[in-house]
Amino acid sequence: MTALLDATGIVKRFGGLVAVDDVDISVAPGEIVGLIGPNGSGKTTLFDCLSCVQRADSGAVRFDGEDITRRAPHQIARGGIARTFQIIRVYGALTVRENIELSASWAGLGLRRMLSRTDPQTRRRADQLIDFLALGPLRDERADTLSGGQRRLAEIGMALMSEPRLILLDEATSGVNPTLINEIKDRLVEVNASRGVALLLVEHNVQFIAELCERVVVLDQGRKLAEGAPAHIMNNPEVIEAYFGAAAGDRGRGSSTAAPSTPQDPNP
Ligand code: ADP
Ligand code: MG
Repeated sequence: MTALLDATGIVKRFGGLVAVDDVDISVAPGEIVGLIGPNGSGKTTLFDCLSCVQRADSGAVRFDGEDITRRAPHQIARGGIARTFQIIRVYGALTVRENIELSASWAGLGLRRMLSRTDPQTRRRADQLIDFLALGPLRDERADTLSGGQRRLAEIGMALMSEPRLILLDEATSGVNPTLINEIKDRLVEVNASRGVALLLVEHNVQFIAELCERVVVLDQGRKLAEGAPAHIMNNPEVIEAYFGAAAGDRGRGSSTAAPSTPQDPNP
């Protein structure tokens, strides 16, 4: 099958540091792929290169057969890739609905529309997404009153507003309570199943990855360390060593699907 996203040889340097070192990664249409690795292994930087938030030093990114390597981020959104960020990007002073409506403009609906009153079609779509994400009661609340998990859900709504074919989610469960983690998981499963949206998930929550993903890619120090089915990956000794480190040794390999302890904000 032709890949929806197909990135090859991605390299990104910061001075002498090679943050992403010759990584190939692909996502098939409708596929759910996990991207894991220790803090600082290059996951967010790779996401930035895939979504053209940062320009790769070398390598190529193809989406739906087209070379998108040198496009601007807004063109990427318009072209069918949406992105959420490790540090949540919702406007605290705006309501949930306003945040989601505003994100339509990133999808290329244009400045004129963004600056004018929201048109009925955009409002209807935002309302549908808010209901889908079970954020209805919070529709008119300021985003800065939401919990971390509710903000993550709002961000997923913002991503869905552009009707993407692929969503890149950077740590969608970090700082989220267990009940809302399940809610996020269910919403993502449904988005994938009913709309065929492919997902690429950066996650520290290994349980979440194991339950959602068909395939997992492991980064370590900017390089691809392993790739395969979650069960296979979680039992790979190299992965256990790099990702779980000494903690895995303490727990023993039989418990390797347990989530490693993770700081709330890995990149303060
Ligand atoms: P991850 O998301 O896997 O935790 P990152 O992609 O954020 O990793 O970071 C990979 C490496 O690149 C880290 O060593 C980080 O300190 C470095 N890095 C990330 N962004 C920058 C930047 N803008 N300037 C310099 N170094 C950076
Ligand atoms: Mg990161």
